[in-house]
Order: sequence, then C-alpha cells, then structure tokens
Amino acid sequence: MAKLIDGRAIAEKVYVDLCREIAELKEKDVTPGLAVVLVGDDPASRAYVRSKDKMCRELGLHSLKLELPASTTQTELLSRVEELNADSAIHGILVQSPPPAHIDETAIVRALDPRKDVDGFHPENVAKLVLDDSSGFVPCTPLGVQRLLIESKININGAHVVVLGRSMIVGKPLALLLMQKNEKANATVTVVHSRSRDLAEITRTADIIISAIGRAGFVQADHVREGAVVIDVGINRVEDAASERGYRLVGDVAFDEVSKKASAITPVPGGVGPMTIAMLISNTVKAARQLL
Ligand code: NDP
Repeated sequence: MAKLIDGRAIAEKVYVDLCREIAELKEKDVTPGLAVVLVGDDPASRAYVRSKDKMCRELGLHSLKLELPASTTQTELLSRVEELNADSAIHGILVQSPPPAHIDETAIVRALDPRKDVDGFHPENVAKLVLDDSSGFVPCTPLGVQRLLIESKININGAHVVVLGRSMIVGKPLALLLMQKNEKANATVTVVHSRSRDLAEITRTADIIISAIGRAGFVQADHVREGAVVIDVGINRVEDAASERGYRLVGDVAFDEVSKKASAITPVPGGVGPMTIAMLISNTVKAARQLL
C-alpha cells in the first residue's frame, strides 16, 4: 500500500519557513504585498481569490483584492495593471484566470511587470525557467509539485519522470523545472499528451508519474509500474448524489487501484492543491525580497 503524501501538512511546513522570511522583511520595513485581480463573477474563481486573500492576511501580508465587473474593458484592465505595476506596496500581481471572453489574457500577462509576475506566466519568466535563471518566477503548481517531492524525500535526481499534460500552466513548466541542471531536479523527463502513442507503455517506465490532464480516473493500475511514485495534479468534478453540492472533486488517478501498486501517492483533495497557494505566497515573498 502506497504512502500517502500529505500536501496540507507539507504546505504548513512551508508556511512556517515563510513566516520567518516575512518577519525578516518586516524588520526592514517591508510588508510583502499581493494584488489579486478578478474580472467577472465566476463562482470558482471567486472562491480561489477568497482563499488567496485569506491566506495572505493570516500570514501578515498586505493583500489587495480587486474585484472588477464582467463588463470591464481590455483598456480599463490594462490601466489597473499599470497602476499595480507602479504601486510600491504591491510586490506580486495575479490576474485570476479565466477572464471573460472579451479580455485578451495573453496581452494582460505581457503587460505585467515581470518582477511582480508571481504566477510566472510572463514570457520573461518563461525564458528564465528555460535558461535555469533562478531570479525568475516559476508557475505555482509546478513549483508546488517539486517541493512536495523534495519534502517527501523522493529522489528526483536521475529519475525518469513522466508528465501527463503539456499546458503552459502545469505540464510544460513542470517538465522544464524537473529537467533543470541542479540538485533539486536533474530528472529525465518525458511528456505525454492527447496525441501520444502507446501512452501506458511510456508511463509504465516512469519512476515518478505526474498527471495534469483533467480526466477523472484516467491513470489506472495498468499505467503504473510497481513501486512508482504518483502525483495527481488533476481536479475534476464528478456527480455525487450523496454530496450536498451534488458533486465531489477527484483527481486524474484511479486512487484505490493505483495506491495498491504505487510506493507513494497524493490524494485529491489534500495533495497538490494546498501547495499551489503556498507557492504563490512564496513567490510573493521572493518578489518582495528581489524588489528591495
Ligand atoms: P489543460 O486542459 O490546459 O491541459 C490538459 C493537458 O492534458 C493537455 O496537454 C492535453 O493534451 C492533455 N490531455 C487531455 N486529455 C488527455 C488524454 N486523454 N490523454 C493524454 N493527454 C490528455 O489543463 P491544465 O493543465 O490547466 O490542468 C490540468 C488539470 O490540473 C485540471 O484537472 C486542472 O483542474 C488541474 N489543476 C490543478 C491545480 C492545482 O492546484 N492542484 C492547478 C492547475 C490545474 P493536448 O495538449 O494534446 O490537448
């Protein structure tokens, strides 16, 4: 039976370290500040923004929640971004995705000051990830996955990691991060996606499988080598009449069968999810330090 990787407990440990760094910055009269911009009233986005704001406040960060109506124009949003770029109390800026359809998200991301782009989506930060330049910002979910592995003492160095999914938010940056030439990485990385041939044959050769495809129960026992580590990034809604909300959240991995074969596995919820927000705070603290 696989060891359960407890993302909540590891995130708590990250917060303890961050509290120390935040206190050091406060001694220098700097309070790290995060601005989260939400356009429109998508309920899931609203919930994410609320939890980010709550966590910032709990840790003593300056938190600015900017809730703009769905009718906000591209020009208006760009000017709010410009204001935040110029605001010295704000070290990190995040524009909650997805914005309404009339907003050009790529243009908004490019308008961010890359030194405040704590989501790590600005082309300058993507380039820094490719170039192994540690002054850049790495997207929070990939960074959280790497930290989970390190804190769980799972050896990444020299391991064969198979990443399922190639999005710019998870799969691609994760592959780049884990193949970097340093002690926290040095993995041999294979990326598979919807056009990959013989996907299960490839995943069966992995020491570490990381799934980020958004398909409930996709990764089954047959995809996994005995003793492999399985990290489940997926968050999927499945109908559940027994639940008050009528649905429950599950990952990409068929947990019951895979946990019998894997040596370690993350649950959903309570695995990668809590690490994503911890890394957002971590990136904000890093931005504050670098902007000193
Ligand atoms: P995207 O939809 O942007 O990307 C999904 C990727 O999976 C694509 O590369 C796609 O391939 C691939 N894929 C889809 N179906 C299959 C399949 N049947 N076989 C192989 N590959 C497939 O999703 P995201 O990267 O944004 O998110 C992935 C999952 O992670 C989602 O469930 C999301 O909710 C979750 N997530 C969780 C976070 C957390 O904090 N825990 C944070 C961010 C995301 P192709 O490129 O060929 O289309």
